[in-house]
Parts: sequence; C-alpha cells; structure tokens
Amino acid sequence: MTGKVAGNVADIIIIGAGIGGLTAALALQRTGQRVRVFERAAAFAEVGAGLTVGPNMLHGLAHLGLGEAVRAAAMTPEHGGVIDIATGELLVANTRGRIPEQRYGQPYTQMHRAELHGILADAVGRNDPEALQLDHCLASLSQDACSVTARFTNGNSACGDLLIGADGSRSVVRDALFPGHAPRFTGYVAWRCLVPMDRLPATPIYPDSAIMIGPHRSFARYRVSHGRLLNCTAFVDSPGWTDEGWSIPSSVEELLAHFADSAPIVSEIVRQTPADACFKWGLFDRDPLPCWTDGRVTLLGDAAHPMLPFLGQGAAMAIEDAVILARALASVLARVLASTPEGPAALLIYEQARRERTSFVVQASRDAVREFHAPDTRGYDPARHRDAEALGLFSYNPATAPIPAQPFHQPRG
Ligand code: FAD
Repeated sequence: MTGKVAGNVADIIIIGAGIGGLTAALALQRTGQRVRVFERAAAFAEVGAGLTVGPNMLHGLAHLGLGEAVRAAAMTPEHGGVIDIATGELLVANTRGRIPEQRYGQPYTQMHRAELHGILADAVGRNDPEALQLDHCLASLSQDACSVTARFTNGNSACGDLLIGADGSRSVVRDALFPGHAPRFTGYVAWRCLVPMDRLPATPIYPDSAIMIGPHRSFARYRVSHGRLLNCTAFVDSPGWTDEGWSIPSSVEELLAHFADSAPIVSEIVRQTPADACFKWGLFDRDPLPCWTDGRVTLLGDAAHPMLPFLGQGAAMAIEDAVILARALASVLARVLASTPEGPAALLIYEQARRERTSFVVQASRDAVREFHAPDTRGYDPARHRDAEALGLFSYNPATAPIPAQPFHQPRG
C-alpha cells in the first residue's frame, strides 16, 4: 500500500485506533490531511469502563465539532468529593454541576469509554470511509529522507510522509524509536466494574462522583451511560505482580476481600457487580521520555506519556496532544510541503508544545496515589488535596494554547 499525495497535503499513517489515534485522525482530517489509521483489533468491541471528560478534554472535542455529541452522551455530576473509606466521612467537597463550565468554559463530565470511542470512530469514518484499517498489527517501521514505511504482521505495508504512534502504553512504535524503557510494576492492582444502577439501593449516592480513600487502597465511583451504570474503579497496594491490560477477568469475591472492612456502601456496590463485569490489571509505570520524535515519526497519548490513572487525565492528554499536533502540522504545511525537511519540524513543534505539561501530569498522578493510599488517611488535609482541578489542569484549551513557531533544535534523522 502506498499513498503519497501531492500539494501541501501530508499522507499520514497513525498506528492505533484508541481515543488518541482516532482524535488525531479527526483533527488532521479537519486540517485537510490524508490520514490512514491502522488498528490491530479485528473489530471494535465495547471494552472499557468510565472516563472523566473534564473541561480541558471537552475544549479539544468541541474544537473538533464533537462538543454537543459528547455532552449529550456524558453525565455531569452535581457534586464531587473525597470520602474516608472506613468511616464514610466526606473529607473534601468539590463543586461540580454548572460551576466548572462557568469557570473554564466547558463542563466536568464523565462517560463510558466505548461511547466516546464510538463517537470518534463515526466522525473519522464519515470524513473518509477508507481511513480506518482494522486487523493491522504493526510489526516494524523504517524511514528515510522522504518517507516512512510501516509493516504489519498480516504482510501488508503502508508508506507515508509522517507516522504517528498512538498504540498505547505498550507501544511498538516507542520501542522501535527509543528501545530500553522497560515498565516497572508499581505495586498497585486496579479493578474496574460496571454496576447496573437498578441493582443498587434507591437512596442517592452522595456525592455522585467520589473517590473513597484509605490505607493502601481507594475506590472511585461515578455514573455513566445516562445514569444506567455505576462505573467503579478500585486500587489496592499489592506486592503480587499482575499483568498490564484492561481485560483480565476477576471475581467479585476477590475484589470484596480487599474492601471487607470498608464503609458498607463499598461492599454493597461491589456485591451487585454482574459476574462478567469485573476486571483487574496491574499498574505499570514508565518515566517520561526525554524526547518522543525521531525524524518522520512521533508518539501521541499513552504511547508518548503513559501515566497512572489517579488524576483521570490519560485520555485528556491524548486528546490535547491530537489537537496540538494538527495545529503544528497545519502551521508548517501552510508554508511548505510535508515531504520537505520541514515536515518533521512540525512533529518537533508538537512535541515541544506538549512535553512539559504531560511530564508534569505523569509525576502528579504518581504523587496523588501516595496521598490517597497513605497509611493513615484520617488526618487527610483538604488544603493539600491535589486533584486535576487543584493542579490547574482544567484551564488548558488545546485549541488556543500557544505553540512554538519553530522547533527549538533541528530534527534528528
Ligand atoms: P489506547 O486507548 O491504549 O489505544 C491504543 C490503541 O492502539 C488500541 O486500540 C490498541 O489496540 C492499538 N494498538 C496497540 N498496539 C498496536 C499495534 N502494534 N498495531 C496496531 N494497533 C495497535 N481508560 C480508563 O480510564 N478507563 C477504562 O475503562 C479504559 N478502558 C480501556 C480499554 C481498552 C481496550 C483500551 C485499549 C484502553 C482503555 N483505557 C481506559 C485507556 C484509555 O482509553 C487511554 O489511557 C487513553 O484514552 C489514551 O488513549 P491512547 O489512544 O493513547 O491509547
């Protein structure tokens, strides 16, 4: 497969049709680029649970024309908070409802990952029905002065001007570009479950979006899918190693055992989880890369900056990346062709606009879990609470954030 195109239009290969890869595809399509997205899965399945879609992420989605669709599918919690997991005492109260929109120009919402993924995939497919190529698992890549070639395990290959590795935290593209960054098991195991709300007691769960914290564990829950489902994510300090990934089946009993001495509402919720809706996975950590672009290839989303989930910002960072990448490329292509040496400069502009912010969020996510799982959380100090809002992350708008006019140094390769 080749696909070089003429004019100031780049032919861009994206590896991975997750939320980052699809958003990058849409953002690049909207600036007139030709995009092909190669995804290893043979079909999109309804995998995953809840995602926080905060103001910074919604700014990016609204810029791409998806603001209304996402808001219609998402839940807007009225209240947020941090709760002592043993006593049920509210330690920190967050103002949600209409307040975030008044403060940041977009609301704080939460939704099922599969619903957001579906909205993005539909939008990309409407622009170009040929853009999404499933059943294409990247095996290797190579580049020269004029092009980059991706080879897939099914024997196909694709040639383009630029390649974006959006293939998640275990990125093959990252390993090809920057080998030797092995992940470390963090000592945290995570569970996710989706509980039908009609199985739970009719009494309202307050605050409707909350994280319950306590020694060596935490439990976050909020509603998704128009309030039909309660999304729960539990984290436990665990010396035992568990595989990384999203879909390792677990049992309700195993999860219950970790929260036996918690406030009764936790076990009430967990007990109502359908047997096939409880999954676990090990959390692995990687240090931020010193750079993530090499010539005609760059990384985006979890491939570039995998992070622990304790600030709920992984998908937001991927969407911010995608909007900035498209803006950087559009600004360069307005002047020259992607196939000149200036094409890779756009990738460096993108990386340099994003590296500091994403590295900060990687570190802040590590710090957050140390506070949540502290051996004694009874004295948890609201003044020291550092969630995504307190860290100032919500006020970023990728559609208007400044980007460098030129890269700070010349492209490698
Ligand atoms: P990802 O979402 O990980 O997407 C990477 C994509 O690349 C995947 O579609 C993967 O199949 C594809 N890929 C990987 N390797 C190759 C290869 N060699 N060739 C071609 N394609 C490849 N976050 C939550 O907060 N809650 C959830 O419940 C949740 N569920 C998830 C379920 C799944 C199946 C996945 C993949 C991710 C899930 N996430 C969840 C993570 C969250 O979506 C991401 O952290 C975030 O959106 C960043 O997205 P990304 O596109 O950078 O990476």
